[in-house]
Amino acid sequence: MKESIELLKTKAQALPRARLGFFPTPLHRLDRLSEQLGINLYIKRDDLTGMNLFGGNKIRKLEYLMGDIVRQGYDTVLTYGAVQSNHAMQTATACRRLGLHPVLCLNPCSERDARNVRANLLLNRILGAEVHVVDYVPDEPEAEMKRRRQAMGRAHMDELARAGRRCYELPSGGASALGSVGYVMGYAELMEQCQALRIAPDYVFSATGTGGTLGGMVGGHLALGDRARVIGIADSPLDDDYEQNSAELCNGALALLSSDARATAADIHVDRGYYAPGYEQPSAIGTRAIHLMARQEGLMLDPVYTGKAFAGLLDWVQQGKVKPGSTVVFWHTGGVSALFADREITGPIGEA
Ligand SMILES: *Cc1c(COP(=O)(O)O)cnc(C)c1O
Repeated sequence: MKESIELLKTKAQALPRARLGFFPTPLHRLDRLSEQLGINLYIKRDDLTGMNLFGGNKIRKLEYLMGDIVRQGYDTVLTYGAVQSNHAMQTATACRRLGLHPVLCLNPCSERDARNVRANLLLNRILGAEVHVVDYVPDEPEAEMKRRRQAMGRAHMDELARAGRRCYELPSGGASALGSVGYVMGYAELMEQCQALRIAPDYVFSATGTGGTLGGMVGGHLALGDRARVIGIADSPLDDDYEQNSAELCNGALALLSSDARATAADIHVDRGYYAPGYEQPSAIGTRAIHLMARQEGLMLDPVYTGKAFAGLLDWVQQGKVKPGSTVVFWHTGGVSALFADREITGPIGEA
């Protein structure tokens, strides 16, 4: 190992951190699927980060983001996402835990009717978050929607400032160098658990969207110098500069931890082969992966991220890209509340 886990931990302690989740999350073997697939399959349970039943990967990011926000004395946090955004819901949860006021600026995606209060939108209501939703415009380019969404957010921030509030603007997905520190440290946590189990993963698979989570994992991997290949399975087409952005998030996080390791875009391995037909749109391979995990192991995956990511892992094994006997970690990033979203998002998971 290039840098020790202990050294990384010591460096992370210098950063302000809000204690939100329950760590370490479990790492355990999936015996039945291991046997079926002819590999050694482990699952890292970041669906169990807490603080409530509906945790997920954003909690690790939010521990560092919120630590900084609280230290700077903000009383309100405004963030962005799709109507069923896991990040928005987990931000609202974190705000409540810390006594801050959550403001969510959302856009209709697969679910067009924001009056249909289910899944994360329901949780946001229960949490009492201030929710604003931009109008749905058919065939609008994503960049234009994001511009309108941010304009709405900035207008609400002005209003909040006039009401005397100190409002922090958090990017969608919590995608920032400080957020990715949560996943550098998450990767160190995984490696510590692997050492205790006397295993050395050949592969680590994770769903990826903004690249903040994957960038952090790659940062942990480069700092520690373990043998694993860290693979992101895309949840959507992803911009052409995804690899570059993810490497920058990685390097920003490593710099905050004063580590000398650095990534280039070539260190970011992402497979865009499994998101079709689109973000938040169900697919046959995703449905099959959800059923397989539930029926062989009794565990729940989600239709937007982890179902498709696991479908990618299965395909890598079936194609022989992952050799028989390999040790593979599937990183469960959460999102399971989407099982209770509309059929536009879930697809026919309840049939057959
Ligand atoms: C947000 C999210 C991701 C993607 O994380 P990024 O850091 O944006 O790449 C993956 N899985 C789930 C369940 C998520 O909510």
